[in-house]
Amino acid sequence: MITRFAPSPTGPLHLGHAYSAILAHDMARKAGGQFLLRIEDIDQSRARTHWEEQIYDDLRWLGLTWDGPALRQSERLNIYRQALETLWEGGFLFPCSCTRRDIEAAASAPQEGAHYGPDGLIYPGTCREAGARAPGQPLPDAVLRLNMDRAARDCEFEEICDLHLGHHALARTALIDTVGDVVLARREMGTSYHLSVVVDDAAQGVTHVTRGADLFEATQIHVLLQKLLELPTPTYCHHDLIRDSDGKRLAKREDARAISKYRAEGATPGDIRRMVGLPPSS
Ligand code: GLU
Repeated sequence: MITRFAPSPTGPLHLGHAYSAILAHDMARKAGGQFLLRIEDIDQSRARTHWEEQIYDDLRWLGLTWDGPALRQSERLNIYRQALETLWEGGFLFPCSCTRRDIEAAASAPQEGAHYGPDGLIYPGTCREAGARAPGQPLPDAVLRLNMDRAARDCEFEEICDLHLGHHALARTALIDTVGDVVLARREMGTSYHLSVVVDDAAQGVTHVTRGADLFEATQIHVLLQKLLELPTPTYCHHDLIRDSDGKRLAKREDARAISKYRAEGATPGDIRRMVGLPPSS
């Protein structure tokens, strides 16, 4: 068993991160497997070295040890490019020149109606046909979207195996209608969260992905990409979300729940475990 924790160094780790990390860590240790760390720092406009240092420090303080050096996504851009090449050759990508405003205008046209998916407004398809790859055309240096209709066509019977939720069929129509043509390469990064996470889970040999239930829709995209790139699909463990006392989801910006803040106030790692509803470490 190989599990991982994959935080983005764009803010402090909060209770929700601690919960996810502890679950993945303890699961691997109990099975005699490995627990890996990956720093998801492709968004260089938001990633900061001091947040990365804080992640290492908080994890160590929590008593979590990871195997091998952390993998840093910012050092793997050429690997993501190769995966994009494969998808481009397969005719699954198209370049998109729409601005956010173009998308909003097209999606809110009366005959369209605006629909939201996991990445915001569902792409109305403006560039899809014109951007189809001509034979021999090299991968363009542009925003690249997945042609979801093409990609999902053959995947109707694939399943997501979830340790808590059981088996979920990957529904083709839901991917087309409620997810749409997601961005796989952003101009400023040359990649995207969805693409990098899929490439790296495979590169690190991750067998079990532990993540919050809020990422379930993203997981469907990831399983589809694994099929297109012929990568293995891990088992997923979507866990419940740690909420505020008033039931609101914890967001990273809510620094009030930062692990570092509890530490500064004198909390122990055991207190953090208790706060997220986990038994003391054995
Ligand atoms: N970097 C993501 C986060 O901050 C990754 C989680 C995942 O893909 O499981 O939550």
